[in-house]
Amino acid sequence: MNDPAPATRPQHLNPPEHILVDPEVVNSSLSRRVLSRMPGVPWTVCRNYQKQLQDLGTDSQVLYLKNYKGRFLRPCPGTSRYHCCGYQIIHIGENCPLQCTYCILQAYFQDRVLKIWANQQDLFQELEEHLTRSDTPIRAGTGEFTDSLALEAVTGFTGDLVSFLGDYHNICLELKSKIVELGWMHKVKHPDRVLPAWSVNSQALISAQEKDTDSLEQRMQAARACVQQGFRICLHFDPIIHYPGWQKGYARAVETIFDYVRPRDIAYMSLGSFRFMPDLEKIIMRNHPRADYVYNEFITGLDGKKRLLLPLRLEQFRFIIGRLKESGMGHNMYLCMESGAVWKKVLGYTPKELGGLDKHLLRLSFPTRSQNSPKIFIDRHKLLS
Ligand code: SF4
Repeated sequence: MNDPAPATRPQHLNPPEHILVDPEVVNSSLSRRVLSRMPGVPWTVCRNYQKQLQDLGTDSQVLYLKNYKGRFLRPCPGTSRYHCCGYQIIHIGENCPLQCTYCILQAYFQDRVLKIWANQQDLFQELEEHLTRSDTPIRAGTGEFTDSLALEAVTGFTGDLVSFLGDYHNICLELKSKIVELGWMHKVKHPDRVLPAWSVNSQALISAQEKDTDSLEQRMQAARACVQQGFRICLHFDPIIHYPGWQKGYARAVETIFDYVRPRDIAYMSLGSFRFMPDLEKIIMRNHPRADYVYNEFITGLDGKKRLLLPLRLEQFRFIIGRLKESGMGHNMYLCMESGAVWKKVLGYTPKELGGLDKHLLRLSFPTRSQNSPKIFIDRHKLLS
């Protein structure tokens, strides 16, 4: 059942100082795989991980193989104030070994322990019940509370997941990452129902703010490799940050994308301006004193999050979207957490004109299914004009 471990450990993945394992999952195939791929790392079976963490020191690098008891499949919290994309989260673990200065997880979770839900069979059972109960197609992803692939070299979680989901026609899985990890690819039965996705940004920002991640060029090389294997990909320009020289940086980023893929290889692309809850601002200042973008001029949005001033946001969106349109992108671009008015100004269309963002993205995720669907309204002539 277990694949051999990758020949070399990815550079972003330092071995933890200690592995903690819940007793119920000590013999699960995922736990056994992780432990076999991290020989030499001490591990302990424990009932109370928080107590154990205190004994080890709260700053120690710990990987925790957990018997997760919550819901594995849940709707993305989104926001009621802005347009939501209708994404379903498949919860596979929490925290991330990469170190993006702006990472929201710094504010979400009380510790930085890398947690992996090692009771995978419970996840599969919940998914099976959901996917057989209803034929309604869903767009799901694992990249909400962790990077989808950052721990893949030791867990093989995504390989197991794509293999399991291959039997279900009503789910499209998005794998969102900032690294290059394609070890799961050979387990995919239907490439049309898996969407490898990368966050993209200007290389200057990646170098300064996304420590331990792979470069834009490496991400796009991986994207091209996926396309060559029959996948479509997704890209997420998020967070777009206002910094001196951003025009040059983002113009080059768009060029780099289309050095490697064609517009038709991209199922959809999101753009999101840097936004944050006030709690995160303080954490960024404390953890990353050189992250000077937090001192930009922000306003508080309807959802309580701070965002760049509207004229600056519009300027950045118009610039980047202008370059993307010149490169051939069309109505498969959408904005994250912005109002219909901002959409209209920068994209020229609103979620309503697409028949609702959630339905639109579902249609883009399942292209052949929705081409025949009369339920989803889209006025292509209007949108593309
Ligand atoms: S890759 Fe995503 S989850 Fe990981 S540190 Fe960066 S922003 Fe956070």
